[in-house]
Amino acid sequence: MTKQIKIHSRDINYTLKTSKKAKKLRLAVYCDGSFVVTKPMGLNDRVVEKYIMEKSNWVLAKIDHFKKFGVDINKNDKQKYLTYKNKTLEFVQERIQHFNSTYQFKYNKINIKNQKTRWGSCSKKRNLNFNYKILFLPKHAADYIIVHELCHLKEFNHSTKFWNLVATLVPNHKEIRKEIRNKGLYF
Ligand SMILES: [Zn+2]
Repeated sequence: MTKQIKIHSRDINYTLKTSKKAKKLRLAVYCDGSFVVTKPMGLNDRVVEKYIMEKSNWVLAKIDHFKKFGVDINKNDKQKYLTYKNKTLEFVQERIQHFNSTYQFKYNKINIKNQKTRWGSCSKKRNLNFNYKILFLPKHAADYIIVHELCHLKEFNHSTKFWNLVATLVPNHKEIRKEIRNKGLYF
């Protein structure tokens, strides 16, 4: 549920999620500029607002930090996707050119998508698909995802052969995978 709150006379949008698992309130500002509040079941919205206000300086500092990247935090996912699609494509094309000078794999098309649950995929038609949010990941994490999908052009599985292929260009892929997993699809 999208909500709005006034912090120091600024209108700030946030997504309010209710979680059965959450034991306490959680605030998160991600690098794509989205602000997400997760609350335990049955917690009153006014308690949520009070908590956000207590942490208001932290929230604004985070949002302003990401604003420096030119992210408009009040845009919704679809609008952000349309805004950043081309920029992401340019970025991915450049990185693929860079990494593929080693691998020399043949691919068909590169697509930038707005997927909910995936960072990237490689189709049987040899198309490489990437989530536009890859643009907001730390560079090493984005690079790993790009190398991962590139390697699927050779190995359509997650076999030892596949991981060895990934490791030729990203030797510390295990650490990076863990880091990405912790971030979920929001970051
Ligand atoms: Zn894979």
